[in-house]
Amino acid sequence: MLEINGINSFYGKAHILNDLSFSVGQGEVVALLGRNGAGKTTTMKSIMQLVRPRSGSVRFADTDITGISPHKVARLGLGYVPEERRIFTDLTILENLEVGRQAPRVGAPTWTLDALFELFPNLAERQNNRGKALSGGEQQMLTIARTLMGNPSLLLLDEPSEGIAPVIVEQMAQTILNFKSQGLTVIISEQNLHFAKIVADRAVIIEGGEKKFDDTFEALESQPEIRDAYLSI
Ligand code: ATP
Repeated sequence: MLEINGINSFYGKAHILNDLSFSVGQGEVVALLGRNGAGKTTTMKSIMQLVRPRSGSVRFADTDITGISPHKVARLGLGYVPEERRIFTDLTILENLEVGRQAPRVGAPTWTLDALFELFPNLAERQNNRGKALSGGEQQMLTIARTLMGNPSLLLLDEPSEGIAPVIVEQMAQTILNFKSQGLTVIISEQNLHFAKIVADRAVIIEGGEKKFDDTFEALESQPEIRDAYLSI
């Protein structure tokens, strides 16, 4: 479904991603792991074309999306939830969700407000409250719910477990497993190995913008030297 082939991405002169390649199959949940500054966010931005790779290509569902504008990438069915939450604080929850609404998409789950409120009961209870009244965890949920209103077929979640209370982290894991059961393809960026192991089928480890590992969590467990070298946990 997604194929990243030898991308090189830069911020100005700083060469951040180095010949990075990996692919994600339909319905898979893949965790991008690595320390602070390893290049996980840059990888997500390079997929969305928010950072345009200088070489290499990104293919989504057999379309070469390299160099096209980020809003076109979104329209093709890629939903991106950045690490910093981006909700409209002066709009209500309901209004925030309406902003994200797009037409249903062939081959992707179609989300209704009712389905989202079932998935995120906290948001349902507070649907007429303004964004600024929400806790950090609720804002995170609202950002995800708003992205789902675009009916993506591939969802990119940057550090979904970061900065939220432990009980909400558990809820977040269940939510991602629920996405998977609906057939959504998901890429998460994580520093929390435990969380990644619960939700993901496969780990791609990045260090210094290079891929160092791409396999199952069982394979990762059998190679503790990889974990020690590239993960902080
Ligand atoms: P984190 O967990 O801290 O978000 P990450 O693995 O997502 O880490 P990136 O945010 O992709 O890492 O950063 C990769 C490298 O690019 C780091 O060295 C970072 O300092 C650098 N970097 C990130 N954003 C910019 C920018 N806008 N301009 C210049 N350098 C940047």
